Amino acid sequence: MVRRVVIIDVRPAPCALCGERAELRPYGPGNALICHPCMGRDEAACKARMYAFLEEADEIYFKEGERTVGMYLFENEVAR
Ligand SMILES: [Zn+2]
Repeated sequence: MVRRVVIIDVRPAPCALCGERAELRPYGPGNALICHPCMGRDEAACKARMYAFLEEADEIYFKEGERTVGMYLFENEVAR
């Protein structure tokens, strides 16, 4: 079975929509990396993209550089 592993870098970077440096998630239009306030401006669409994204992924790792700061497994268990 092929497992889809996603790595999300939590280090602040410029948001694709507003340009603010922040921790980003790939829930913008076309899975663009956007900040939390921008997600709130179009919450329904962002939530739909988030659920689609999570459904596709088997394991998500949150990384700060080389360091793993969190992971989300397909069993929906969050480990910190
Ligand atoms: Zn933004």
